[in-house]
Amino acid sequence: MIKNIMLLVKNYSGVIIALCTLCTLIGGIIVFFVKRVTEKKYKVKQENDELKKKIKKLEEELSNSEYIRNVEDNIQGSPLGGTCLYLADRNIYICTVCWNRNKEIITVFETDDTGYYKCSSCQLESVFDKGKVEHIRNINNKMWSSVYDD
Ligand SMILES: [Zn+2]
Repeated sequence: MIKNIMLLVKNYSGVIIALCTLCTLIGGIIVFFVKRVTEKKYKVKQENDELKKKIKKLEEELSNSEYIRNVEDNIQGSPLGGTCLYLADRNIYICTVCWNRNKEIITVFETDDTGYYKCSSCQLESVFDKGKVEHIRNINNKMWSSVYDD
């Protein structure tokens, strides 16, 4: 049996070598194409990931600009005559400087019944309630004029 196999190998050694060479060559070609397909697939995946990032960024920008437009539609001057802005739909007062500079909504409140406010972000101090500021000023003027009159 082994003798027969050895005889077969001896007689057909050229054919066997040719078959081995052919198999090696076909294997090489298959590896080459698999590698190319894998590289292409990786490149497509990278491009896909980059496009997803760009789409997400554009969606955020669009959402942000819609948000800003929506806020600007609802912004008005303070009904109290102060320098801050008033967001009618939320019934809040916001810092004019922070909105104009960074489109940030920083809520402001009157400081201790003085008619003024101080922004917690940009530290701007300004008039919250013009009527109250003028009223306090009038009281002070009357008080000082009565002091000087006496
Ligand atoms: Zn501010």
